Amino acid sequence: MPHGSAIRGTRVGSGPIRPVERCEPAPRREVTYWCAKGHSVEVLLAADAPAPPTWDCPRCGQQAGQDAHNPPGPSRAEPYKTHLAYVKERRSDADGEAILAEALAALRHRRGER
Ligand SMILES: [Zn+2]
Repeated sequence: MPHGSAIRGTRVGSGPIRPVERCEPAPRREVTYWCAKGHSVEVLLAADAPAPPTWDCPRCGQQAGQDAHNPPGPSRAEPYKTHLAYVKERRSDADGEAILAEALAALRHRRGER
């Protein structure tokens, strides 16, 4: 083995980072989401990161959840709260009903209904 020591010599002290350390992947886990249309998407997350409750389906754009049998509904149907929703948030139910009745009465009045 005339070259053994020469080969070994090139490895001593060469390179501050060993390949096995540089390529070691961070711990990950796979989370699967299902949308209401039956699409599934597998998402790789960092092992210590909490999984978001929903994920956007890459095929139809709807929200997908982690429960295959109970996917989230088409939440995009209501992208913003109505004015009434904001009013009801800061008032009691009784106030809300009174305001709602008043608003409905005014609306019906404008439409010519009784
Ligand atoms: Zn989908």
